[in-house]
Amino acid sequence: MSTSQSQMENSISSRIASLQFSVIRDMSQRAANMADCISLGIGEPDFDTPEEVIHRAMQDIHNGFTHYAPAQGDPELLKVLSRQFSAWTGLEVPESNIVVTPGGMGALSAALQTLLEPGDEVIIPEPYFPAYKAHVIMAGGRVVPVPTSFDTGFTLRPQDLEQAVTSKTKALILNSPNNPTGNVLDAHTLDELADIVRDKKLVVLSDEVYDRMVFKGEFESIGTRPGMAEQTLVIKSCSKTFAMTGWRVGFAFGPSWLMPQVIKVVNYATTCVNTPGQRAALAALNMDQSPFHSMTESFHRRVDLLWNRLQEIPGIRCHQPAGSFYLFPDISAVTPDSTSFALSLLEQERVLVIPGQAFGASGEGCVRIAGTVDEEKLKEAMHRLKRYVRSFHPS
Ligand code: PLP
Repeated sequence: MSTSQSQMENSISSRIASLQFSVIRDMSQRAANMADCISLGIGEPDFDTPEEVIHRAMQDIHNGFTHYAPAQGDPELLKVLSRQFSAWTGLEVPESNIVVTPGGMGALSAALQTLLEPGDEVIIPEPYFPAYKAHVIMAGGRVVPVPTSFDTGFTLRPQDLEQAVTSKTKALILNSPNNPTGNVLDAHTLDELADIVRDKKLVVLSDEVYDRMVFKGEFESIGTRPGMAEQTLVIKSCSKTFAMTGWRVGFAFGPSWLMPQVIKVVNYATTCVNTPGQRAALAALNMDQSPFHSMTESFHRRVDLLWNRLQEIPGIRCHQPAGSFYLFPDISAVTPDSTSFALSLLEQERVLVIPGQAFGASGEGCVRIAGTVDEEKLKEAMHRLKRYVRSFHPS
């Protein structure tokens, strides 16, 4: 690198320079040109967006939905969201408290930019979706990870949350159903966490992008706990729910002291979410939901298949996921180094999984497996994984 180039590199803000490229991206690039690789790495439904959604969005494009939408979102979409969010939460969610964002990611980023002063702390139960850390740092905040462990099913313990709160704590990010662990917070835990959040006057960013992928019982949100609607910004997304990752449409809703400010940030950052994408979201919300239910059923079957196969591999233990499409098996009895485990698995057996340390230090010793390929490929991947693990302890 020339001297002038390295001098110019000093112009990059230290916040941005400190961010690492995502391990998920790095691992996926390694696997990209490998023939016969089975990728259990990417957190994206393998199903295509249903034809009806595409058809209706195309019709709307032909009918002139190619212009800017209002910054807050397409008015028809906001109306439907208000009705559905109110029905799901049992609370009144007026249109004025909703914003359409570029995916759940856009909601997360806008919320953190709206809330954080430099140095404000954001508590994130670990292991966590890696983008959380980047977004907190980009918004000038400081991440305070709170480790969880395999032994507690990766559930955040209320006493650990309480201990992590300082005078600088502004927010808590909760993600249930969880990426990477597949954990779903139960009603009792949500009650206990809500007590602390209320007491400490924190804002919860409740990332619910996998809310439709719950395999037992009904999904519950911390935002529905008494008084919590005033302290919770809920993040939803079309990406996983409707197999619409590429359309980039998500939503946030929250209290009226907060949402106009978030809408202002979304407005300046994006002008509006792409109009055809918003029309596609409207179509997905309005149509018969059975294609989406069968997607969830497929994920449930796949996760069960993976979990059952993992039980047969000595040295691996795994919780049965309650939601999402991820499993987070503990491989530490095979080797404590999840990165070398994942790299050699890829080299030797052409199976891509993500090392647990990509999700924070307490993810070390585990790997993330995504059930985002069909059952035949999953069976083959588990066969290869079993062979690979056996190579550590030849019998
Ligand atoms: N939150 C979690 C937990 C995720 O796993 C993802 C994507 O993988 C997102 C948010 C962002 O999704 P999108 O921006 O596509 O809605």
